[in-house]
Amino acid sequence: MAFAVLEPATLTEALSHLAHEGDAGAALAGGTDLLLRIRRGGRKYRSVINLKFVPGLTGLAWDDQRGLTMGALTTFRAIEHDPHARRHYHALVEAARVIAGVQLRNLATVGGNIGNASPSADSVPPLVALGATIEIASTSGMRVVPVESCITGPGKTVLAPGEIFTTIHIPAPSTRSGNAFSRFSPRAAMDIGIASVAASVTLDTDGRCADCRIALGAVSPIPLRATASEAALRGERLTPALADLAGELAAAATRPISDIRGSASYRRAIVRTLTTRVIQQAAARAAAAGAR
Ligand SMILES: Cc1cc2nc3c(=O)[nH]c(=O)nc-3n(C[C@H](O)[C@H](O)[C@H](O)COP(=O)(O)OP(=O)(O)OC[C@H]3O[C@@H](n4cnc5c(N)ncnc54)[C@H](O)[C@@H]3O)c2cc1C
Repeated sequence: MAFAVLEPATLTEALSHLAHEGDAGAALAGGTDLLLRIRRGGRKYRSVINLKFVPGLTGLAWDDQRGLTMGALTTFRAIEHDPHARRHYHALVEAARVIAGVQLRNLATVGGNIGNASPSADSVPPLVALGATIEIASTSGMRVVPVESCITGPGKTVLAPGEIFTTIHIPAPSTRSGNAFSRFSPRAAMDIGIASVAASVTLDTDGRCADCRIALGAVSPIPLRATASEAALRGERLTPALADLAGELAAAATRPISDIRGSASYRRAIVRTLTTRVIQQAAARAAAAGAR
């Protein structure tokens, strides 16, 4: 289980280590997933490349036109406290708040949450619903990928050996838009979700749904867009009956597993309820934003 810990001081140095180590190296952010995985003997690495001292990989920056940009090593605690995230991206802050406990949220990063690629990763549905993109860097250059297509299976991402996530970008919300997130887990704290839902809703001047994005977590191998629910809402007034129909369509789109936390049919029932609620909450926030 012995491995070297490399501590690059610049991004160039980090990328050069990652390129040199290839499959035998792993990027280390907060370590709340990676170190457990290594300790359990799940994966052996020759070296771990600690990104914590690389400048530019942490922190959040807001721009009225561009929206929110955050380093991949931004912690969930920093997201919870950021005034712009709290004002514009309720879904992301609501997800950050339910992750583990405060001590862990001071370590755990958003890039690590995506990199770990767990179906129950809490930050992923909000980022997908908010239309976030992520910058990926390597010694060969940089590419940008929607967070929606970043996770390719449980524990798998689009990252090639030598690549890391550097920056996440969430577009500025349009006028009359709102978003929300909700997760259900058997225990109130320190437990992973058995289902989660995030939604972003934009209303037109008439109060109808101009656009929406709904993302589901923990109910399929990869994060799922509830596209049938989205289609049912677009152009319509968001009545309770329509929100209920969207919930039903979302539940039908899931491919949940049955495990110790809940059966597949229970997860589907939870998704239905959460979707209905989250859409209504996002729409209420959109209406309130329009009234300001
Ligand atoms: C007790 C406990 C409770 C938890 N509760 C929750 C919960 O409620 N919800 C939830 O979603 N998660 C939970 N987790 C999981 C974990 O805390 C999160 O997934 C966290 O966001 C991982 O971030 P990290 O910075 O610690 O990642 P690390 O452990 O450092 O890395 C995780 C993976 O991502 C890769 N990686 C990290 N950063 C980058 C980068 N910049 N570029 C490329 N690859 C990268 C690593 O190589 C590794 O494969 C919990 C974990 C524990 C131990």
